[in-house]
Amino acid sequence: MLCGAPASGKGTQCEMLVSHFSFAHLSTGDILREEVAHGTPMGVQAKSYMDNGELVPDSIIIGIVKLKIKDPQIQARGWILDGFPRTDVQAKALSEAGAEPEKIIILDVPDETLVERVTGRRMDPVTGKIYHIKYSPAPTPEIQERLIQRSDDTEQKLKTRLVAYHNNINLIIDYYKKTNSKIYRIDGNRSKELIFKEIQAILTNRHNL
Ligand code: AMP
Repeated sequence: MLCGAPASGKGTQCEMLVSHFSFAHLSTGDILREEVAHGTPMGVQAKSYMDNGELVPDSIIIGIVKLKIKDPQIQARGWILDGFPRTDVQAKALSEAGAEPEKIIILDVPDETLVERVTGRRMDPVTGKIYHIKYSPAPTPEIQERLIQRSDDTEQKLKTRLVAYHNNINLIIDYYKKTNSKIYRIDGNRSKELIFKEIQAILTNRHNL
């Protein structure tokens, strides 16, 4: 399970983890954006919350995650959960569904850094790949031209999202402290390669050796 504030680098690390370990990647943000794009009933319900930078109600998101993790293909590959749980209610629901994370990695990034990351973040609507206008520009003019900014990636909405994140992360940690899951808080304010090395070490039990 990979946790962190918006733009803490969860998506980037998941991409690297998937290509290295061939895990399945379950991102609730991606799942919801897809539902919104297809105009499904869940997408219609979720859209206004997402546009405002608010959490979608637990009742909407928990059902879909429970369904996804039952998929035999996902179970066979092992999976990384990205963006879920966001509340302790979601953490409890996951346990009730029989899914206790083996390892929980939390990416810690200072709020000031997140503001710069979020306001410069752009998404390629064709591939879903994430770029940053300054730190990770699109590789070709064609991609550059089609990039869009997520409606919740503004400084104002980030504030709302950060309040929710800080309120919830400690409740989630407190919840998992009472289980067998191992929790690792790591410095997410470094290069993506260095962070990946540390995550790799955690996943292969070489951490702190
Ligand atoms: P993300 O891409 O993870 O930053 O998620 C984008 C948005 O989707 C969030 O700001 C929420 O509105 C919604 N969302 C994603 N995951 C969850 C979740 N586990 N619980 C509630 N809302 C979520």
